[in-house]
Amino acid sequence: MRSPSDYISRRSLGVDASGIRKVFDLAAKMKDPINLSIGLPDFDVPEPAKIAAIEAIRAGHNRYTQTQGIAPLRDRLRRDMSAEFGRDIGEVLITSGVTGGLMLAMLATIDPGDEAIFLDPYFVMYKHLLTLIGGKPIAVASYPDFRFRAERVEAAITPRTKLLILNSPSNPTGVVMSRQEVAAAVEVARKHDLLIISDEIYEPFLYGSERLASPAKAYDRTIVLRGFSKSHAMTGWRLGYAAGCESVIAAMTKLQQYTYICAPSPLQYAALAALDVSMADAVAAYGRKRDMVVQMLGGKFQIVKPDGAFYIFPQAPTGASASDFVTRAIENNVLIIPGNVFSERDTHFRISYATTDEKIARGCEILCSLA
Ligand code: PLP
Repeated sequence: MRSPSDYISRRSLGVDASGIRKVFDLAAKMKDPINLSIGLPDFDVPEPAKIAAIEAIRAGHNRYTQTQGIAPLRDRLRRDMSAEFGRDIGEVLITSGVTGGLMLAMLATIDPGDEAIFLDPYFVMYKHLLTLIGGKPIAVASYPDFRFRAERVEAAITPRTKLLILNSPSNPTGVVMSRQEVAAAVEVARKHDLLIISDEIYEPFLYGSERLASPAKAYDRTIVLRGFSKSHAMTGWRLGYAAGCESVIAAMTKLQQYTYICAPSPLQYAALAALDVSMADAVAAYGRKRDMVVQMLGGKFQIVKPDGAFYIFPQAPTGASASDFVTRAIENNVLIIPGNVFSERDTHFRISYATTDEKIARGCEILCSLA
């Protein structure tokens, strides 16, 4: 006879969520934590987008949309991205968050045993989604500076390698790939016939003067994934989009039909309004928070100055594992995430500075006193 746990598939058992769960368990015991662990902006959805969402609901946009998303939003995104990349970007599919785009891109391309390469530290989902669908996640170390090194990536390529997943600006490091690094990644992909999945969800959060260097500009075998969760603080609205290589987008669209069906209908109309809202002030404020964190932690911790997103990934003080350091931080009321949640190593920790200046200052002070 089966016990209830016997119903759980090997696929599900293959995914381990213990690292992050441990942090949340510890956090649940904290009274009023200085929370530097949150992966979403601390500003609210812009008012025009809220109004557009309410109006779309009132206007009756409450049914399924076409699987690929509403035409005005897809047209607008195709126009904007084509102008940005200097070529027609190809088909656009509106997804249920970038997570939906990642899931569909992997389902559309990965056969059991196929390999996908990404840099370590990595956004946790890459590893687990790949495992879930029977692919093989290959994490290539980018320590100590979190830069793309073609020779390390090439050394990890096998005849089963199909995807190169890039994430710039990066979660958890905040590092932004330079033009040269992107060119090197494209060269590797071209040489080895790899499809690039470029997760650009943090694209609006750039603190230098240049726009994001995207592989989509030079390499048409790229799927760009972007979304509204971070740019407009709409993590709960579940809106993202995928664009690029037409045969892959067509396969993703087919799969969306049998999984998510479509992205939330009224919110697709609201996204159209959101695209006309300037987020420049919010980004500038995050740039100042980045400077503050770098300035406060730089003297006590080994850091790589981030140029984007809202994370920094300092090295834990020597002599302790990062997990031990994080436990001490949590005992002192500062919630941060141990690096081994994002990495095969347990040497660093992630701070999110998407919070108030006051919390950043208090949190950094405590972390420095523990270092
Ligand atoms: N990609 C990266 C790098 C992320 O950090 C996140 C969310 O934290 C996602 C994708 C998923 O975002 P979404 O809310 O659009 O599914």
